Amino acid sequence: MNDKSFEIRENLFVVVSAPSGAGKTSICKAFLKRHPEVHFSVSYTTRAPRPGEVNGKDYFFISENEFKRKIAEGEFAEWNENYGYLYGTSKKTLELFSKSDQNMIFDLEPNGAMALNKACEGGVYVFVLPPTLDDLMVRLRRRACEVEEAINTRFEKALAEINNIMWYNYIIINNNLDEAVDYLHSIYTAEKSRTERLTNKLNRFLNKGIVS
Ligand code: 5GP
Repeated sequence: MNDKSFEIRENLFVVVSAPSGAGKTSICKAFLKRHPEVHFSVSYTTRAPRPGEVNGKDYFFISENEFKRKIAEGEFAEWNENYGYLYGTSKKTLELFSKSDQNMIFDLEPNGAMALNKACEGGVYVFVLPPTLDDLMVRLRRRACEVEEAINTRFEKALAEINNIMWYNYIIINNNLDEAVDYLHSIYTAEKSRTERLTNKLNRFLNKGIVS
């Protein structure tokens, strides 16, 4: 996927990024409940499953050796290291998108999101911001069973990421979960309604008087 692979299509993929602790996973899960027609892009990772996570649904959990073999064989559209673990999006997922009419959502850290943006046309990129930096620190402390140093590292990383988000198409400020999901829903429905995505439907309408 070195060249920009997709033009603007009727089906849509949305990429959501956020600093660790900003609430992105909860937003994506709630969004997917509301939009069962949207498929979640299941990434590969070398980290261990957390309680409740299911192999093949949340991630494909694989060993570091297996991950490195996949890198060597060019199986990833993008991959990155995050806090000592490897994460990657399979080219197969993107092929599935390009050959189907599926809508998809990706949960990717910013480097992966940018790599995907360089590789593929037509995605919609959304960054989720915590309401304040204090709030981010509170969330990092609440979720972490980690030492202060690791929390500070995550905070510094989040600051660096936030300083580099101007290329995203949309920013959602996560004041509360329901509102953030409403915003993501609005972005999705507006993007689905863009004229260039609907040219086929428009032509059908003009030829047959109906859109489907
Ligand atoms: P977690 O371990 O908390 O599930 O995810 C850690 C980070 O990895 C999150 O920011 C998540 O968005 C990111 N991530 C998940 N899958 C992928 C992937 O396939 N590629 C990249 N680059 N990042 C990913």
